[in-house]
Amino acid sequence: MIEINDLRLSFGSNEVLKGIDLSIEKGQVTVIIGPSGSGKTTLLRCINLLEIPTEGTLRIGDSALSFREGNKPGRGDILAFRRKTGMVFQSYNLFPHMTALQNVMEAQVIVQKKSRAEAKARSLELLGKVGLAAKADSYPHQLSGGQQQRVGIARAMGIGPELLLFDEPTSALDPELVGEVLKVIKELAVEGMTMAIVTHEMKFASQVADRIVFMDEGIIMEQGSSNEVLNHPAQERTRQFLSLLS
Ligand code: ADP
Repeated sequence: MIEINDLRLSFGSNEVLKGIDLSIEKGQVTVIIGPSGSGKTTLLRCINLLEIPTEGTLRIGDSALSFREGNKPGRGDILAFRRKTGMVFQSYNLFPHMTALQNVMEAQVIVQKKSRAEAKARSLELLGKVGLAAKADSYPHQLSGGQQQRVGIARAMGIGPELLLFDEPTSALDPELVGEVLKVIKELAVEGMTMAIVTHEMKFASQVADRIVFMDEGIIMEQGSSNEVLNHPAQERTRQFLSLLS
């Protein structure tokens, strides 16, 4: 369903992604792990076209784009791609002046052109799904970090994405709030949502991942089932990385 070929991105002379090849099947959960600075966030941002790759191709469902240095895709193409993916950010990125409900409704009204009534009904349903029906009228500052992140997940789901992207969704949270967010993500996995998740939560990764991708210095060093990568890594770099975590 998602096909990434020879994807490259440079910031000036710094090549951050050095030729990424990755396929994600519909309904699969892919967890991306690797040391800080290896390009994990940048890869997610490329899939969502928050960064425009320098080279390579990206296909999501029936839409494909090829990238070439100095030749950016048009705004229409970018928007069409963004509608296929929902992104959940490390720092939630909720609008502070909007309630939880308004945050979840916003993209549905602006991007999807839903009527306010339709967007409200769907948003209340999604807030219920993440356990926050009672907090619809609360503002972000009135919510815990875990609750804000669950609003972030409901918001990303609102546009009906084909793919959900999570960029370290629990790393800004106090430890006691991590579980409630991971539980929501696990429920989405059980429902068959296609997801790519960058995380340092290895126990969670082993529970939820159909595939684990280990990135190092802008390349995919190794990928496979969680048992293969976490318990029987083929590469020395993967072994080193995992040993530093335990
Ligand atoms: P990870 O998510 O694995 O920690 P990142 O994707 O955040 O890694 O970063 C990979 C590299 O890209 C780092 O060296 C980082 O400094 C660089 N980088 C990320 N975003 C930018 C940017 N907007 N401008 C310049 N360099 C960037």
